[in-house]
Amino acid sequence: MNDAVVIGGGPAGAACALWLHQLGMDVLLLEAGSAVGGLQLNSPYTNRWIPGLQGRTGQQVAAQLQDHLESANVPHSLGFWVTGIRQRPSGLGWEVSGRSGVHRARNVVIATGSKPRRGGFVPSDTVGIGPGVAMERIAVAGKRVAILGGGDNAFDQAVFAQRRGAASVEIFCRRPPRAQALLLKQVAPECVHVGPFEADQSAMTVDGQAFDVIGVQYGFEASIPAGLRLALDDGCIEVDRHGAVPGLPGLYAAGEVTNFLHPCVTTAYAHGVQVAKSIQNASALERWIQPRVDRQPGLRALAVAA
Ligand SMILES: Cc1cc2nc3c(=O)[nH]c(=O)nc-3n(C[C@H](O)[C@H](O)[C@H](O)COP(=O)(O)OP(=O)(O)OC[C@H]3O[C@@H](n4cnc5c(N)ncnc54)[C@H](O)[C@@H]3O)c2cc1C
Repeated sequence: MNDAVVIGGGPAGAACALWLHQLGMDVLLLEAGSAVGGLQLNSPYTNRWIPGLQGRTGQQVAAQLQDHLESANVPHSLGFWVTGIRQRPSGLGWEVSGRSGVHRARNVVIATGSKPRRGGFVPSDTVGIGPGVAMERIAVAGKRVAILGGGDNAFDQAVFAQRRGAASVEIFCRRPPRAQALLLKQVAPECVHVGPFEADQSAMTVDGQAFDVIGVQYGFEASIPAGLRLALDDGCIEVDRHGAVPGLPGLYAAGEVTNFLHPCVTTAYAHGVQVAKSIQNASALERWIQPRVDRQPGLRALAVAA
C-alpha cells in the first residue's frame, strides 16, 4: 500500500507528488493524459505570472514539470484515468481504480483541476471551447468570429482572433463584461453585445447572424472523479485549511478542483505543497500513535481529542 496516491498531474498534483516523494514518502501520481502539466499543456502563450520564471510558454512550463518529476524519480503513471475512489472495506486507507488497475493508499489527493464549460456545444473544426489550443487550432484569418462569454478569456480570445487576421470579431455576453480593464480597452465597444442571445452550432449563427467560427468562453468547472459523494462548495470539493476533505480521513484535495481561490499555476503549486506537508505531519502523528494504540486501545480517542 502506498503512503499516498495523487490523482491528476497538473501543477497542484505534480507539486504535491514531488514534495511527498522528496519528503521520503511512498507516493504514486496518476495522470489521465499522456503528459503532466494539466491546463498548461493547452497554453501556447507566454506565462508571465510565475514569480521568478520568465519567458516560458504554458506548454514549456508543463514540459519542465515533466522533466522535474522524471529527474527526481517521482513515481508516476500516465494514461491512467481514475474512474473510482472508495474507502477500503477495513476502513484503513483508500482504493483508487481505473481501467489500468487498482492502487491502494493510506492517503489520496484529488488534484483533477477543472475543464472548460461547454454550454451544450461540441468542439469541432469551427467551434472552439475554452482558451488556448482549443481556439488556436482553428484558422480565423478572413473569417467572421463570434466569441461567447464576458470574462478575461472571452476578451483575450477576441483580441487573439483580431491579431490572427479575423475579418470581424463580435463578443456576446449575457451580463455586463467582467474582464479586466486592460482587455476591455482592446475590443471596440460596438463589437460587444450585452444581453440574452441564442447561439446555434448547427446553423453557425448567433441571434440569426451567420459566423464562420464560434469560440465558447464560458469559464471553467471542477473536474471531479466519479465514485465518491463529496460535499461541494459552488461545484468544487470543499476542503479545510490542510486540504483535507472533512469527515473522510486520509482524503485530500488540492488546486482548482477545490473551493480555494486558484487563479493560476503558482497558487496551484502552493496548494499541492501545503497538502503534501499536511499528509507528512498527519503520517508522523499516526506512526507515533499506532504502536501505543496497539498496547492501549483507549489512547486513540485521547490522542484525537488532544
Ligand atoms: C489557455 C490557458 C492559459 C493559462 N495561462 C496561465 C498563465 O499564463 N499563468 C498562470 O499562472 N496560469 C495560467 N492558466 C491557469 C493554470 O493553467 C491553472 O490555474 C492550473 O493549471 C491549475 O492547476 P491544477 O493542477 O489545479 O489543475 P489542472 O491544470 O486542470 O490539472 C488537472 C490534471 O488532472 C488530470 N485529471 C483530471 N481528471 C482525472 C482523472 N479522473 N484521472 C486522472 N487524471 C485526471 C487532468 O488530465 C490534468 O492533467 C492558464 C490556463 C489556460 C487554460
